[in-house]
Amino acid sequence: MTETVQAANPGNAPWAKAGRQPRIAIVGAGMSGIAAVVKLRKAGYTDLTVFEKADRVGGTWRENTYPGLSCDIPSRWYCFSFALQAQWSHRYSYGPEIQAYMEKVARDFGVTDITRFNTRVTELTYTHPHWHLTTGDGEQAQYDVVISATGILHQPAYPAIEGLASFSGDCFHSARWDHSVDVTGKRVGVIGTGSTAAQIIGAVTPQVQEMHVFQRTPQWMVELPQKTYSPRWNKLVQRFPVLQRLSYHYYLQILLHTFSAGTVGNKTMQRLISWLCRRNLEKNVADPELRKKLTPNYQAACKRLIFCSDFYPAVSSPNASLVTEHIERIEPAGVRTVDGSLHELDILVLATGFDPGAFILPTKVTGENGVDLATRWAGAPRAHRAVAIPDYPNFWMLEGPTGPVGNLSLITISEYQVDYIISMLDKMKAEGLDAISPKPEAFDDYNAAMAEAIKSTVWITGGCDSWYFDASGLPNLYPWKPNRYLREMHNPDFSEYRLSG
Ligand code: NAP
Repeated sequence: MTETVQAANPGNAPWAKAGRQPRIAIVGAGMSGIAAVVKLRKAGYTDLTVFEKADRVGGTWRENTYPGLSCDIPSRWYCFSFALQAQWSHRYSYGPEIQAYMEKVARDFGVTDITRFNTRVTELTYTHPHWHLTTGDGEQAQYDVVISATGILHQPAYPAIEGLASFSGDCFHSARWDHSVDVTGKRVGVIGTGSTAAQIIGAVTPQVQEMHVFQRTPQWMVELPQKTYSPRWNKLVQRFPVLQRLSYHYYLQILLHTFSAGTVGNKTMQRLISWLCRRNLEKNVADPELRKKLTPNYQAACKRLIFCSDFYPAVSSPNASLVTEHIERIEPAGVRTVDGSLHELDILVLATGFDPGAFILPTKVTGENGVDLATRWAGAPRAHRAVAIPDYPNFWMLEGPTGPVGNLSLITISEYQVDYIISMLDKMKAEGLDAISPKPEAFDDYNAAMAEAIKSTVWITGGCDSWYFDASGLPNLYPWKPNRYLREMHNPDFSEYRLSG
């Protein structure tokens, strides 16, 4: 421990002027942290330390272990461009396979070797031109650059429902699945009908005695065209790596130009998405009453579109009931709805989502002039091009606020963001700069343009509420086509930045 502190504090001279490597702290060893290490090293930046609060890499794929967990982005695209893999068992991978992949890549590329596990970063304070990092153990160290790779949805959101603590059965959040509890033959309730709930309900309903689905708002869903990859096909892909690369780019382009384009104004795609959702509902839910209850009153893709083929059959099965009356309170025996019914349960699963405004919080991040990040954001996190913030020099975010998240591979987005950060480091190195941060006026202009553009996206015009909305009253998302964002990441405009040194 002492060794790390000493190694991190060899001197106060700005790295680019002193002609040494920048000391870079990366917070988080999920997929964006792994991408950062591999790409930074490849670009020649080798003085890296990763801080990970848990005992393993993997981020969301380590945290979420619920039954049915899978990724609705195709496996051949949901992977690192530098670590394509032929041996995927399914077109859409299940959680454990993705977690195993993350661990393998972290091992193969030496990420685990430089990761300090079980070490939570609690404070980051900027004193020109360095960042002072404090861990949960009270250890302190100095870095030249900090990269936040914490992900977005990592703080479970527990519903503020009266009596929740009084429930006498087993109760847990979807991201804290209690594997000591056997659901077989039990009366199970699931609160929520988002992507997570849909996967859980699809997987668990066949095993339970009763499944009670508590739906506050119906969701549009399309079928997941899942398929098993044959060993023969995987062998062929392994033998001809060009097939891996082709598949990667095929899925990237398909998703960019179809579902993603549909959310940001492509009317043809919007119509296609709506048609697919309606067809899915009509095809897979025979009971007209149930179908009515499952039909949203807003446009498809307004909330994050769900890809799931198991949910409709599960909720239509004889042991399942869809409860649309709102929850009044939770009692020791189960869930009481406003119509007075008590839905008696043995197990209650809270598939109620996450705090979407967390990002690097609750780490206390203090920028220039003592500006506290949580205060600055005040529930409406903003960043310049989703990666940087004025008054927080040499601080970069992967999957930061207003990025192009949604039905896309976040691995690709992270990789492009790392490339952008590398361009910034190269600039600092070439010009001997001490610090780099967005100009407040560039940040304001960018955010004003986003606030205007977002009004014509389906996230607003679609007429729904979702976790995309923050305290500003607007969705915290990139309002233009994601391929534009990828181009921006590969063509940084340094005139938007204050370069000091
Ligand atoms: P979510 O989309 O935020 O859904 C939360 C659900 O809980 C909603 O149905 C919500 O209802 C309901 N809810 C929340 N508080 C409630 C309350 N007090 N009473 C009743 N219902 C309540 O969360 P999620 O399903 O965990 O998904 C979050 C995100 O994770 C997704 O949008 C997606 O980006 C990602 N994800 C991705 C995959 C994948 O395959 N790639 C899989 C799972 C998750 P309302 O709709 O009425 O708010």
